[in-house]
Amino acid sequence: MKGIVYLVGAGPGDPGLLTLRAVEVLARADVVVIDALVSSEILGRIKPSSEIIDAGKRAGNHTLDQAEINSLLVSKAAEGKVVVRLKGGDPFVFGRGGEEAEELFQAGIRFEIVPGVTSAIASPAYAGIPVTHREHATSVSFVTGHESDDSTGVAWNHLAKVGGTLVFLMGVRRLPEICAHLIDEGMAGATPVAVVSRGTTSRQRTIVGSLDDIAQKVRAAALETPALIVVGEVVRLRERLAWYEKRPLYGRTIIVTRAREQASLLKSLLEEEGAVVLQFPSIEVVPPASFESIDAIVQALGTYHWIVFTSHNGVASFFSRMDEFALDARALAGVKVAAVGDSTAAELRRRGVNADLVPPRFQSTALLPLLEEDQRGRRIAVIRAATGREELIDELRRRGGEVHLGVAYQTRPTSDAKSDLLERVSGNAIDCVTFTSASTVENFMNLLGEAGREGLVNRAALISIGPTTSEALRALGLEPALESQEASIESLRDAVVAHFSSTAVP
Ligand code: SAH
Repeated sequence: MKGIVYLVGAGPGDPGLLTLRAVEVLARADVVVIDALVSSEILGRIKPSSEIIDAGKRAGNHTLDQAEINSLLVSKAAEGKVVVRLKGGDPFVFGRGGEEAEELFQAGIRFEIVPGVTSAIASPAYAGIPVTHREHATSVSFVTGHESDDSTGVAWNHLAKVGGTLVFLMGVRRLPEICAHLIDEGMAGATPVAVVSRGTTSRQRTIVGSLDDIAQKVRAAALETPALIVVGEVVRLRERLAWYEKRPLYGRTIIVTRAREQASLLKSLLEEEGAVVLQFPSIEVVPPASFESIDAIVQALGTYHWIVFTSHNGVASFFSRMDEFALDARALAGVKVAAVGDSTAAELRRRGVNADLVPPRFQSTALLPLLEEDQRGRRIAVIRAATGREELIDELRRRGGEVHLGVAYQTRPTSDAKSDLLERVSGNAIDCVTFTSASTVENFMNLLGEAGREGLVNRAALISIGPTTSEALRALGLEPALESQEASIESLRDAVVAHFSSTAVP
């Protein structure tokens, strides 16, 4: 099949603003040619087998010039490849998508355009500024703030009289001249102006002022690029409509120390609240050295009175062992099931089992007051990691029960990210670390070492999922800033939000 070039808009930065079509064509790309404006989160979504070519053009530092990009697109497609030309925002809004498409047309290369969410609309929207509004702006103009030599020229006299919203792209460096032109052509110096920097990303910042003073305010704020300028009455709506920068964890960097397999839920919950989340896989979940103990339980399920699950990993592993023996949830008929922790109970529910008992706290010992004092003649299976607290097992044995430990998995420290961690900690970049088990505390703190530990705790809030985890912190002389009320990821998220809603952003 002949090659094809997709000219694709990647949106303004937030990967959630990629279109379904963009994701679809990225999934089949042999080659992806990217821009400086394509965010790293979006780059992370390009499949590893695609060749990535950086054509990023930053002002004054050309990686590839436009003619080279054009011939690259043509030659890759001519080789029969599926080429995605990925551009920030929309490819046809100041993106040179038009020029590139003309080249492809000239060369007889098949192409398709995949529009993207343009920063010209999305960055104001994330800053709480609607570019049109029936009461304030009946039109919106997108204007280049950087007139190239062959540009047709900006008609300042007309722009100043249009009356709607003006959005300038590529203009922050020339902000003083832009404001001066508009004032010269008759616009009031008090006209509201907003400059939105790195819109829709975790580093979005918005500065608001007027044509008279915005240039000076922006200079003082040392804003990062890319940034755009919004001029018009709609800017006032931001006072009420700002939302993105107001989310409770906005501007916070949080380390999530969970095994990689489990971290993504907590990560996305914290991101929803506006945080930048670094996953720190201080432990990973791997199969146990032997399945012997758990298999023995699985094969004799009917003989047990109680089966206790202490983690959702345990549930997952247990059911996969059942599967090995062609068993399913029916094998648990007649067996009482206890689940420590809401996520453990949820994991069971997903497999068609409603736990008979879920203790109010995420601690295996919290089960003890709920179980009968006399356990004589009872067979009890406890499904958990290779290492864990022994109190539950010891106490049930003391009460006369016959307790079998089923080792479902083991956790082990991962050390690959140590230098990255130390760098961030010493750069004071971390506001908070969440811990979901005693072993995440130990592994994380070991890796950090004494010096790193001091640097971290001076600044970052340590937030724990429950009493056992808090104890592990205290054992190292560290005091958790807050403990989650319940042993669930949602409750841990709530604790983080509660902690930061009482703390000012630095
Ligand atoms: N095709 C792009 C625009 C390319 S021109 C689009 O549709 O968004 C580059 C200019 O876009 C930058 O100088 C800046 O003004 C603006 N821009 C791009 N991404 C931005 C962002 N995330 N926040 C603010 N402005 C952005």
